[in-house]
Amino acid sequence: MKRRDLLTGSAGLVLTMPLAGCDDYGAANMPQPPAAVVGADGQRRLPWQNWSGYQSSLPERRLAPASEDELARLLADSRGTIRPVGSGHSFTPLVPTDDTLISLRHFSGLLQHDPQALTATVGGGSRLGSLGEPLHAAGQALINMPDIDAQTLAGSMATATHGTGAQLGALHTAAIALRLVTPTGEALDCSPSLRPELFAAAQVSLGALGVITQVTLQNVPTTRMKRRVWVEPFDELVERFDSLAAAHHSFEMYCIPHCDHAVGITIDPTDEPLQPRGPEQDNDAVMDLKRLRDLLAWFPAARRWLINMALQDYQPEVAVDVWHRIFPSSRAVRFNEMEYHLPRETLLPTLREVRQRLEQRHPGVFFPMEIRVVRGDDAWLSPFQGHDTSGSIAVHRYYEEDPLPLFRDVEPLYQPMGGRPHWGKMHSLTPQTLADRYPRFNDFVALQSRLDPQGRLLNPYLRTLLGHG
Ligand SMILES: Cc1cc2nc3c(=O)[nH]c(=O)nc-3n(C[C@H](O)[C@H](O)[C@H](O)COP(=O)(O)OP(=O)(O)OC[C@H]3O[C@@H](n4cnc5c(N)ncnc54)[C@H](O)[C@@H]3O)c2cc1C
Repeated sequence: MKRRDLLTGSAGLVLTMPLAGCDDYGAANMPQPPAAVVGADGQRRLPWQNWSGYQSSLPERRLAPASEDELARLLADSRGTIRPVGSGHSFTPLVPTDDTLISLRHFSGLLQHDPQALTATVGGGSRLGSLGEPLHAAGQALINMPDIDAQTLAGSMATATHGTGAQLGALHTAAIALRLVTPTGEALDCSPSLRPELFAAAQVSLGALGVITQVTLQNVPTTRMKRRVWVEPFDELVERFDSLAAAHHSFEMYCIPHCDHAVGITIDPTDEPLQPRGPEQDNDAVMDLKRLRDLLAWFPAARRWLINMALQDYQPEVAVDVWHRIFPSSRAVRFNEMEYHLPRETLLPTLREVRQRLEQRHPGVFFPMEIRVVRGDDAWLSPFQGHDTSGSIAVHRYYEEDPLPLFRDVEPLYQPMGGRPHWGKMHSLTPQTLADRYPRFNDFVALQSRLDPQGRLLNPYLRTLLGHG
């Protein structure tokens, strides 16, 4: 059985109901950003909103400088708050400002590469998906990729975006040098040997130190990857989690709420013949889970039985392709998300608690939880800093539904073990708690103040997050 057929076969009962909104995955109901307005200067102000529609603003200016000189001039000359924006895929309000938004879309693509060292210098505004073909043609591959490839490289690094794999670091760990244009318009190159402290801070910068125009990446040889997806009873997959994470290049688990099964996904290098990924099924499967929730949230036993029945004879999916066509999936069903990174040994006990709380108190939640592992590193604001390997748990709420009751209820479960939130995903930690959890947090705040003495890169959210507000 394919995931698309989640509700067919054994669950024929539900098939008689209309599949409302499945063609656009509900996107027609996106929250509306503020309306465009014409300012006193006659200029039209266009609204900005993030991917889920949860964050929005009405910037006075939306600029896309064409060169580093132009960027430096506008940073040095502009008044008010300036925020760099990538592709708007963060759930936290890191980006919104009603003053100036700067897009790096003209700083995109592969600039140069070294075939021997397998390094590549790319524009900070490059979308991850745009780097796949040119890097592959140059014989290179990114060390790892997140779930999707719509994010920009600089935007991903700014929040410590990651994929999964016990030996695979987050994207910022592939950076071996970068160039930052500070709020005063100064271009600073840095690397582990040139301005090493700036480099360690700028690897995960929250977009608060300056605008990253280019990044040099240490890549790996390009390769084909084999992706395998299967369904297994939750308890059995949790039992095997550690051995699967140790045995595979990349392993993750999706825990489907209100049923007894989970999905495992492994990705490994291979030289097997091409077997491209078929049409994306995840979006339809999630909408099917929504439909079951809509119909049966009041009758949990029937909902559990139906999902269990539908998943019992699920046939594993296998795909073989070049790395950049294997890692990313399509996420058409919009949601808001909270993800916490935890000491690895606490991952699975915490997962059981989160699952139990979600199922007992939040019958409306239908999105699967995502469980991943990430190798540690030393960047000052990396949530993986100081750990050999971290484990992460992500919970999601459909974008039309208030995410806060779920997130507020689950977040306390991560606190006893010093959980660190994904910077781009919703959380409520204060600067005091962050300073306790990140040994270099106060150094980051001090460096930010030195590079940006007037705080022009800080919107209200960042001011509060960094303890200035
Ligand atoms: C559908 C979906 C799937 C996701 N999957 C994953 C996943 O698998 N793994 C994961 O870890 N995260 C994931 N995320 C989160 C996402 O990767 C991060 O929020 C990421 O930061 C978004 O990148 P962006 O280019 O959209 O940046 P934005 O959200 O636009 O900006 C993020 C931060 O980067 C800063 N920034 C942007 N450009 C620059 C620049 N040139 N210089 C300096 N700072 C800059 C911004 O100011 C801001 O602080 C997902 C999000 C969505 C919506």
